[in-house]
Amino acid sequence: MYNPSLSGNAGSSSANSRLYVYEIIGMRDGSTDEKIRSSGSKFITVPYQRMAQEMRRIASLGGKIISIRPLASTAEPTPVASSEPAPSETAPAAAPAAVAAPAAKKHADVPVNIYRPNAPFVGKCVSNDGLLADGGIGMVQHVKFDISAGDLRYFEGQSIGIIPPGKDGKGKNHKIRLYSIASTRHGDDIDDKTVSLCVRKLEYKDEKTGKEVEGVCSTFLCNIKPGDDVQITGPTGKEMLLPEDPEATVIMMATGTGIAPFRAYLWRMFKDNERNVNPEYQFKGLAWLVFGVATTPNILYKGELEEIQEKYPDNFKLTYAVSREQKNAEGGKMYIQDRIAENADELWTLVQQEKTHVYICGLKGMETGIDAALTNAAAKSDVKWSEYRSQMKRAGRWHVETY
Ligand SMILES: Cc1cc2nc3c(=O)[nH]c(=O)nc-3n(C[C@H](O)[C@H](O)[C@H](O)COP(=O)(O)OP(=O)(O)OC[C@H]3O[C@@H](n4cnc5c(N)ncnc54)[C@H](O)[C@@H]3O)c2cc1C
Repeated sequence: MYNPSLSGNAGSSSANSRLYVYEIIGMRDGSTDEKIRSSGSKFITVPYQRMAQEMRRIASLGGKIISIRPLASTAEPTPVASSEPAPSETAPAAAPAAVAAPAAKKHADVPVNIYRPNAPFVGKCVSNDGLLADGGIGMVQHVKFDISAGDLRYFEGQSIGIIPPGKDGKGKNHKIRLYSIASTRHGDDIDDKTVSLCVRKLEYKDEKTGKEVEGVCSTFLCNIKPGDDVQITGPTGKEMLLPEDPEATVIMMATGTGIAPFRAYLWRMFKDNERNVNPEYQFKGLAWLVFGVATTPNILYKGELEEIQEKYPDNFKLTYAVSREQKNAEGGKMYIQDRIAENADELWTLVQQEKTHVYICGLKGMETGIDAALTNAAAKSDVKWSEYRSQMKRAGRWHVETY
């Protein structure tokens, strides 16, 4: 049994703000008599000050605590012997003395800045294909570049910089724009010779002049022709790297071109030709993509995503939020945060497991709605979501790249 007497700081405020994860088996649902599958464990997060109370509740529902561990710790959970009674209210279980901020598992040899803006690599466009179905809004392209003449290497989840040709309004070279890499490290042709991007052409109306404006780099990329040169820098970024654990739970929340890194993850996880060249990474965890778009024709890579879903129904969950076509519970537009809210209890259960990583990519600001949905779910366990999220971030399990 976890031994409170080993702890030195039971009453401190830092202990009080700590969270612990209990692994439980055999507990009836509080509202029904249904037993949790005997093969399955349930994980709940418990604030320090509620530990004793929660142990009694679990016992009263027929549950058995298998282990307790500090949230986000990489330490082995403390096993709980079944013969021990639950502690009484007056003798609450205390926190272990030190809940070290767990170090994220570092990826080895992540390539960064092989090519810098003052000496970019000049690649060639191999192909440029439209990603929108008929009736889609705007222009979004899948663009592939040949990088075989250089030394550019990258991992899934990284970005590259593109320097658009020509000069800016001040007669200077254009600055680089970053784009998330949409291909796996082996490239779309699994020959280690290409890198692919998913680019939306920026178009907006300038409020002062009333003129339509086209983004410099996105327009260049969306119109690029096979054989054209492209100046590439990078790769950059370590925020969105995929965990090496093939049994991880990977929750991906994307809007629009935010799908780019997730395409790379999903191809690495599930595509046959990728699995063939990565014997060390045979994914058998759970990948869940929640993908927000405006209309069905705007669902990027739709056919391939659904093909993976059909082939791996137990390992890949695909949830769309199609804002202009689907309705949320209040009858309004269905945005990604509404889908998160619908699934918040399940997501909350998953994020409490140490093997779960959450990735958010796409429109700036999308985190706010996601946080709101998870705040409600966490509150049911008396957990403050913002604190929990900070701990996940420190543990390298909460990854955000929005632009
Ligand atoms: C890490 C990262 C990853 C990215 N990944 C991708 C990706 O995978 N795919 C992708 O398409 N993009 C991605 N982007 C965005 C990309 O870097 C560019 O910002 C985007 O393509 C626009 O560049 P541009 O040169 O076309 O626009 P620019 O010519 O640079 O114009 C952009 C500027 O226009 C102005 N502007 C933009 N919208 C409006 C508006 N509605 N009203 C008024 N002014 C406005 C703003 O001042 C803005 O800075 C990513 C960005 C980052 C930081």
